[in-house]
Amino acid sequence: MNLILLGPPGAGKGTQAKRLAGMGLPQISTGDILRAAIREGTELGKKAKPLMEAGQLVPDDLVVGIVEHRLRAPDCSRGFVLDGFPRTIPQADALSVALASSGRKIDRVISLEVPDQEIVDRMAGRRSCPSDGSVFHVLQSPPKKEGVCDVCGTPLIQRSDDEPQTVQKRLTAYGQQTAPLKEYYEKEGILYRVNGLASTDQVFADILKLIGP
Ligand code: AMP
Repeated sequence: MNLILLGPPGAGKGTQAKRLAGMGLPQISTGDILRAAIREGTELGKKAKPLMEAGQLVPDDLVVGIVEHRLRAPDCSRGFVLDGFPRTIPQADALSVALASSGRKIDRVISLEVPDQEIVDRMAGRRSCPSDGSVFHVLQSPPKKEGVCDVCGTPLIQRSDDEPQTVQKRLTAYGQQTAPLKEYYEKEGILYRVNGLASTDQVFADILKLIGP
């Protein structure tokens, strides 16, 4: 099963992708890969950093290169979950070309539907682990010990791009550049909408129903 999780920042794509990864579908998160490149100080990271901090998208050729490379890894041969990619129509076009070259295609695109105001509230309370990428929310899913990652004990941070002004810019970028992908995949007949306001467990159950045997 080759899946795309679509939705605005903070819709829960990463949370759901991690749960699917636990069932053996590798998570491909371009945001996580870019943040790792920034931490490691690579050329890619240097190009991506100012754009990410400003709430803007990284150029298509950079992210397409990352994903093409990742999709060639052996663990993707039995399926994968794309989280945060594609975010533009040219990225979606490049993805189908890359998959077709190895006889593959996207099976389902799951759109997590969450209104803008809810996104702003969620992002204000979101705290992330800079070491392993775990995500918490100060009210909705607090860590066991305040301010510390449950998994690895690293102090949690608020990502600079989760600050309110940047969130607004990311939502604008989503509306202008990414939301048109819903129509793109609807035309292909593979778009499925899930209510992203439901609990994490309910959203996961809804996704499983859509990808079930
Ligand atoms: P995310 O963690 O998916 O919300 O991504 C964080 C940031 O990384 C985004 O706001 C973009 O600046 C950048 N980014 C991640 N994925 C992409 C993509 N597919 N295309 C362009 N920029 C991306």
